Amino acid sequence: MNFTEIGLSPELLQAVLDAGYTTPTPIQEQAIPVVASGRDVLGCAQTGTGKTASFALPMIDKLAAGRARARMPRSLIIEPTRELATQVQAAFEGYGKHHRLSTALLIGGSRFAEQERKLDRGVDVLIATPGRMLDLFERGKILLSDVRILVIDEADRMLDMGFIPDVERIVSLLPKNRQTLFFSATMPPEIRRLADAFLNDPVEISVAPPASPAELVEQFLVIMAPEDKRDALLRLIVSEDVKNALIFCNRKRDVDILQKSLSRLGLDAAALHGDLPQPKRTETLERFKTGEIRLLVASDVAARGLDIQGLSHVFNYDVPHHAEDYVHRIGRTGRAGRKGRSFTLAAPEDGKMVAAIQKLIGNEIPVSTVADLAPAALDFEGGERRRGRGRSASATRTSPERTRSRTAPVEKERADPRKGSDAPAPRARPRRDRAAPIEPRSGESQVAAALPADPVVKLFPHPAARPAEPRRQPQPQPDEQRVVGFGDDLPDFLKRAPRVAARA
Ligand code: AMP
Repeated sequence: MNFTEIGLSPELLQAVLDAGYTTPTPIQEQAIPVVASGRDVLGCAQTGTGKTASFALPMIDKLAAGRARARMPRSLIIEPTRELATQVQAAFEGYGKHHRLSTALLIGGSRFAEQERKLDRGVDVLIATPGRMLDLFERGKILLSDVRILVIDEADRMLDMGFIPDVERIVSLLPKNRQTLFFSATMPPEIRRLADAFLNDPVEISVAPPASPAELVEQFLVIMAPEDKRDALLRLIVSEDVKNALIFCNRKRDVDILQKSLSRLGLDAAALHGDLPQPKRTETLERFKTGEIRLLVASDVAARGLDIQGLSHVFNYDVPHHAEDYVHRIGRTGRAGRKGRSFTLAAPEDGKMVAAIQKLIGNEIPVSTVADLAPAALDFEGGERRRGRGRSASATRTSPERTRSRTAPVEKERADPRKGSDAPAPRARPRRDRAAPIEPRSGESQVAAALPADPVVKLFPHPAARPAEPRRQPQPQPDEQRVVGFGDDLPDFLKRAPRVAARA
């Protein structure tokens, strides 16, 4: 089937052609005619499947007739994060470039005045995060009585982030005679109950088994002592053909520390997490998408839905607490038909979390090693982080058979209240964080200052790579400002020419 057979208007066909699409993806093939017909949709699809176009294209055609009145949007799209909302708006602008539709973005962290001005002019497509949307409504700046199409995107993510009460309130404010399109990557019972409450006789569309990792992502697990993680990450960045990479940490604080550490070594790395001001988040993501920055160290705020063209690698610096997050993280690569590689750095005590991931994806993640680093084995019994340093993990080593046969139950409890990402409140109490924090090492500033510029530039020859910082006297820093580096034990490999490692 091609786009003409699906029944898009000539203007949209042109926009789709301009975007370089030749054939509709499975979700587009199924959803576009249904949306065009006016039926409700319950879509179970991951990001990366072409889901956005599956609702945006038919919506644009439907909204082409008619005009928006001041403060009365004609359609509403609710997204869980500001980044996703921004991305969806960009998609509407792109697909709608041959139409005269107006779009507006209502997200936290942006100026109210600007958003209100846009609303005053009349908006066809309003894309919002729930908190900001309700804020404006309660201040009388927006009327929802004209909304004829509602899209609830990434519903399971909204649930995780504690947004469901806000979403329920928003839905209660909308006209009953509307079309509702409801998408979720997974369909647990509570999401299904919500869908039942919001949808009217929906057509169910499911294009991928829930939580199945993208087939185009080659996955690897590297097990090592926790103190070897930074070495491992750097070695992988050197040995892999990293065009651009997302590096996920479980904690926002660790995102900052690791990013500073990488930057000190001359790598072009930036940080992204929910505590950063919105303009900074937007700017950082844009610089990463345009290739100005090659490495983005991020919290799970970047795990869902972000579309980074041709992302070559995802590194899980920490094993995610929730198995589903693993699927979303690695799904940032291997998109749009391109291959990607993901490496998960696990310490022995991460065994239960790895087991939960493997149970969810229904496969074992192939174990890989990193040259010159002592491999370790997962411990599925413990949970407590061992104290002390040292490379050997033999005290907690398990046999390979055990590694294969034992799995821990998938964690039910959710964590991370997503501070700073419009979350009103966490849905559940965060579970105790078992991942080791990245501890700032006091000797780092001396090491960074002493680091010869040449080997770094040679090892990381990205055009955007910054030269090592100018040498300077180490400054005493307060604890929070210290950055992680390699202490006094700068790995020898940084001084040697790169060689390929860790290819399975
Ligand atoms: P989404 O799942 O909506 O985030 O889309 C994932 C990526 O697939 C985006 O980069 C889209 O531009 C791209 N895409 C969407 N539809 C198609 C299509 N029919 N052919 C090729 N790429 C597509």
